[in-house]
Amino acid sequence: MTQAVRNALVIGGGFSGMSAAIEMRKRGIEVDLVEIDPGWRSYGAGITLGGATFRAFRQLGVLDAFLRRGSATDGLDICALDGTLVAKVPTPRLAGPDVPGSGGIMRPALAAILAEATKAAGTQVFLATSFERITADAGGVTVALTNGNTRRYDLVIGADGLFSKVREAVFPDAPRPTYTGQCVWRAVVDRPAEIETAVMWLGPKVKVGINPVSDNQAYIFVTVDQPTKQRLAPGDYLRVLKELLEPFSAPLVVRLREELTEASSIVYRPLEALLLPRPWHRGRVVLIGDAVHATTPHLASGACIGIEDAIVLAEELERASEVEAGLSAFEERRWERCRMVVENSLRLGEIEISNGDKQEHAAIMRNSIMALAAPI
Ligand SMILES: Cc1cc2nc3c(=O)[nH]c(=O)nc-3n(C[C@H](O)[C@H](O)[C@H](O)COP(=O)(O)OP(=O)(O)OC[C@H]3O[C@@H](n4cnc5c(N)ncnc54)[C@H](O)[C@@H]3O)c2cc1C
Repeated sequence: MTQAVRNALVIGGGFSGMSAAIEMRKRGIEVDLVEIDPGWRSYGAGITLGGATFRAFRQLGVLDAFLRRGSATDGLDICALDGTLVAKVPTPRLAGPDVPGSGGIMRPALAAILAEATKAAGTQVFLATSFERITADAGGVTVALTNGNTRRYDLVIGADGLFSKVREAVFPDAPRPTYTGQCVWRAVVDRPAEIETAVMWLGPKVKVGINPVSDNQAYIFVTVDQPTKQRLAPGDYLRVLKELLEPFSAPLVVRLREELTEASSIVYRPLEALLLPRPWHRGRVVLIGDAVHATTPHLASGACIGIEDAIVLAEELERASEVEAGLSAFEERRWERCRMVVENSLRLGEIEISNGDKQEHAAIMRNSIMALAAPI
């Protein structure tokens, strides 16, 4: 690759960090990746992905593995509380005419696919490891790792998620994540035979969806308004989730509600968002993924834009003769798209909370899907 970057440290082994390692290794860069979790685990919920993500998977070389382990379908059906079909939202095929425009997979399955590709690419992975100190100068970055090693790099990539310690270290005045007034529930169920694509049922304050994640499993997601951020005891999850589904008379939702048990891998999460104003780098330390733009799931595109960051970062560093120029070009290409996803997702949440204009909601969904179809 570039004369500018010969070796790099990726801090955080989530979807964004692993994608960065894969793309940098393709260009001959030596890459160390540190991940704080000793088991490199991803929690057991489903995730919804669109055509733009599949296009990025093709670039990373993991599309076939995704298609084997996940589920790819076309479109999204939107229904009323009682199951009446309200709209069919098309999802453009962006990874090629043979690859559907939408889909889902269990997060641990996607994490395993990317971890395998990260190791196969020749990344040195250090688990149960983080950083203690980052000291940058004009010629490089010295990083003291928690495993006792101190190493020097041409570039450090902070991909350590919403509560990023790299962001705290490098941008101490950065805004903190903000609670958005909604929370999301997810659970894993047997894939209903009648489900051919993702389906959503819209209630006044609660939105329910189902998306297949494999040939035999699906996950349900439930978005709920909640004025203040609350902690809930896991022992209450099943009862509360069943209460939320009670107003829905759509036959499939009624059946799914009956089938939920303590073994349904129920996950509850208050939604928080963050968009760091530019710049996203200081010297030779750059942030990608949720560390710099954490969105709510309303457009199911948070993972997508983090993975795209990784691809664009590697492309721009390859082109640049100076690190600064490469990082500025990276931000230039990423800012508008990531801003659009975060701010449009937040607006969708606001419309849901205020029971606002359904036309505006539909238009934002449509326009955002179109904007995401544009090449990166
Ligand atoms: C409820 C919910 C539902 C969502 N649903 C969707 C969806 O359907 N579709 C979609 O595309 N997106 C969805 N998203 C967004 C998506 O999950 C994120 O955008 C994506 O996971 C971000 O990936 P990341 O790698 O940037 O960060 P993360 O996934 O947070 O990964 C960060 C990694 O860094 C590690 N780490 C943290 N701190 C340190 C440290 N100090 N040192 C070393 N390692 C560290 C962590 O262990 C982790 O492995 C959803 C988000 C939420 C909250």
